Amino acid sequence: MEFEFPAEAEQFREELRAFMDAELPDWWKGLFHDDDRIYPFTREFCMKLAERDWLTMSWPVEHGGVDADVWSQMVVREEMWAAGEPRGPQYMSLNYIGPMLMEFGTADQQERFLKPMAAGEVMWCQGFSEPEAGSDLAALSTRATDADGCFLVNGQKIWTSYATAADWCLLLCRTDLGERKHQGLSMLLVDMNTPGITVRPIDSMGGPQEFNEVFFDDVEVPYDCLLGPRGDGWRVAMSTLAHERVGAALHARVKVLLDALIEYATTTKDENGQPLATRPSVRSGLVRLQARYRAARLLCYRVVSAMSAGDANDVDPAVSKVFSSELNILIGNIGLDIVGARGQLRTGDGLAPLDGLMNDHWVHSIPQPIAMGTNEIQRNIISQRGLGLPR
Ligand SMILES: Cc1cc2nc3c(=O)[nH]c(=O)nc-3n(C[C@H](O)[C@H](O)[C@H](O)COP(=O)(O)OP(=O)(O)OC[C@H]3O[C@@H](n4cnc5c(N)ncnc54)[C@H](O)[C@@H]3O)c2cc1C
Repeated sequence: MEFEFPAEAEQFREELRAFMDAELPDWWKGLFHDDDRIYPFTREFCMKLAERDWLTMSWPVEHGGVDADVWSQMVVREEMWAAGEPRGPQYMSLNYIGPMLMEFGTADQQERFLKPMAAGEVMWCQGFSEPEAGSDLAALSTRATDADGCFLVNGQKIWTSYATAADWCLLLCRTDLGERKHQGLSMLLVDMNTPGITVRPIDSMGGPQEFNEVFFDDVEVPYDCLLGPRGDGWRVAMSTLAHERVGAALHARVKVLLDALIEYATTTKDENGQPLATRPSVRSGLVRLQARYRAARLLCYRVVSAMSAGDANDVDPAVSKVFSSELNILIGNIGLDIVGARGQLRTGDGLAPLDGLMNDHWVHSIPQPIAMGTNEIQRNIISQRGLGLPR
């Protein structure tokens, strides 16, 4: 059993870090900030990654990748998430929208959609959740009916991340009435510039860029934009969510924060002139985080390894997602305790310790147990399918 990355992957990590040092501008604080420069920058950044074959490196050559091993791709995921995800919304294309097209798309769809993704030119969003269908996703009511040579889509999505910037949407909707609500759903690939689509940002504690409502009023979607068999959208959606749950290397950001906290605690003195790191509460907090960081990393690698071996299940991604998202909450709380009251000041405030890093992280960690399927739902999956407990 080998827990370290191959030497070539670590060498690649160094190369990637040097590239990011050179490319990330001083103003870059992360994807989830309120700054109009973010989305245009992420598009340019992705194109530069693509020029170096680093954007979709584990994809097959025929789809614009270089057939790299999953561990090199894991290095990219970790370094990007650690740096606040400068690929922007395009991390979704690489992690799961592209793989969904490879699994369920026709040859024409693959030709049409995968190449622009691999070139870093196109942004996608995910239109699944609705006001009355979140955890109970199959209860969704957005309808795609048959019109003159196309689908006609009507309905509303909510919590749609990146919809203001997206060129395309992976849209789950109902095309037919099945005996069970999971039947009759279909996945559509929808051009966000189609007439009848309205995007309305939702202001939240994460800032105005984080969520949107998306309204569909008589939106025409060509039949050749149906992904997978008609009525089988539930299977496509479940495969999408399993890929999504390990797509973001949530543990990688924890490592950045932990290193920053260790540095802060060893260099900052308390009122008695002693480093904060001499306090038992600070030490035990940091040790708790280190142990959990290592566990989170291995849980993520376990899923990646199983997926690459074609041995995926839905319990391991659920375990990894619950553990990593709750670790992100924990480091937010412990980190704020360590840096003290001024830790609540935001990035850019001169008095904020670590330039507001902990407050920033805390704000953006709160939604993590909800995103990608809530942790309660993940626990249901683990208890029923992993432990064999009754419903
Ligand atoms: C940061 C973030 C980004 C997101 N981005 C997107 C996106 O891009 N596209 C998209 O489609 N959606 C997105 N979502 C929405 C997300 O998928 C939903 O919020 C999530 O599925 C929960 O749905 P809901 O908000 O309707 O809550 P509800 O389903 O109404 O749940 C409310 C509460 O009840 C609990 N609950 C519900 N059912 C059960 C049950 N059976 N057993 C136990 N507890 C239960 C839930 O865990 C939760 O605590 C995003 C959410 C977040 C936080």
